[in-house]
This record gives sequence, C-alpha cells and structure tokens, in this order.
Amino acid sequence: MAGELYRDEAIVLRTYKLGESDRIVVLMTAEHGKVRAVAKGVRKTRSKFGARLEPMSHVRLLLYRGRELDIVNQAESVETLAPLLSSLDRASQGMAAIEAVDQLALDREPNPHLYRMAVGVLRTIAARPSPLNVPAFYWKLLAAEGLQPQLDQCVRCGESGPATQLVAFDLNEGGMHCRNCRSGTSVSPAALAIMRDVLGGRLNEALALPESPATHEVGVLATRALEHHIERRLKAVAMFEHG
Ligand SMILES: [Zn+2]
Repeated sequence: MAGELYRDEAIVLRTYKLGESDRIVVLMTAEHGKVRAVAKGVRKTRSKFGARLEPMSHVRLLLYRGRELDIVNQAESVETLAPLLSSLDRASQGMAAIEAVDQLALDREPNPHLYRMAVGVLRTIAARPSPLNVPAFYWKLLAAEGLQPQLDQCVRCGESGPATQLVAFDLNEGGMHCRNCRSGTSVSPAALAIMRDVLGGRLNEALALPESPATHEVGVLATRALEHHIERRLKAVAMFEHG
C-alpha cells in the first residue's frame, strides 16, 4: 500500500517539529486509525496548509502513504471549531479529550467509532462549556472499550436493590462496592447519580449540571479509571512483546 494516495477525514491530535520548516502531525482518521504524517513547509509563514493542521482541527486530507510516515498532500477544513480556542477552559477540555483519544487509538488500525466520538466531543465542548464534558467523555470511552462500569449493584457480592448503599468504586473490579465489600475510592450518592446519568442515556441532563463537589468527584474518578485502563493495556502489550 506504500506509495498510494488516499483521502480521509481526521482530527489533528498533536503536532511536533521536524527539521527547519516541517511538522509531523498525528491524526485520528475516520478510516485508517491513527496516522503520523509529515506536513512539509507548515512552519513557514506562507504554508499552503495555513493553520489548518493545528491540534483539534477537523480536516479533510489527501495523504501519500509512506512506509512509516505518510505525507500530507492537501488539507482543507471540514468545520471550524473556533469556540474551542476562544477560552482557556474549552481549549484545555479539548486537549484533554484528544489526548485520551491519542492514547487509545492504535497506529493504522481503523476505529471509526473512536473517530466519531472524537469529533462529537469537540463539537460538544465548542457548543457548551460543562464541567462534565471531559469526564463524561472518559466514561463513554471506557464503555466503548468494553469496560462499562457496574453502577447498579455491588460488583463483588452482587448486592442490589433500593436499600443497598453503594459507597465506593473499585478500579480493579470496574464497579461500585457496597458498604460490606467497601474498597477503592469513596463515591458520594450525588456523584453516583451523575455517573448513572452519563452512562444511562441521560448525558444532556448531566452536562447541564453546574460545577459542584459531585461533578469534581466524577471528574477525578473518570481520570483515574481511564489512566488505570491505559496502564493495564500498556502492561499487557509489554508482556506480549517480551513473552
Ligand atoms: Zn458487596
């Protein structure tokens, strides 16, 4: 396949310098997974790509397939997500979201669902600032990875029912614990309710919530759960490579 031209759409995940005037762009593409490509001359003031290849840009590309690095031949903007750059808060949410995509996407392994999620979260962040934009996205990513957390019964003893108090989240077991089994991170009833909304089809209600200790709690736990998953996956890959 090396030597062929192909078209795709992508979100720019990050970029880094290459030599005097070129840049490597890391892309989450719609059909070809994560792709690294060289954008030649992009750091010159009269670059034909302009500012289209900045992180979080949504672009339509013509790429030349190289052995390791592809080459960006053409780039045009699909849509402007300008509001993302208009506030530090939104920009940092956008960066946190695409950083997670970067960590989960695999080189040249198509993952259209992850691509659509990346586009979706950037649109959501651009449209409205919510303290839960990124945490909700992390939980959704985990669910998409097959790790939907157990929030309705104790993940250890199976205890459920209205009287059961689920009080802590265990990262290793991937769900809530009842009072008897309690281990892991304490979770308040308000935070648990938010997580159920996020993962139970009531995302819009959750995103409309103002910032509170509970939204903060959900954010901290989402970050830890995602990090836990990524670390475990890295270890599994390392074992596979050495084994
Ligand atoms: Zn239990």
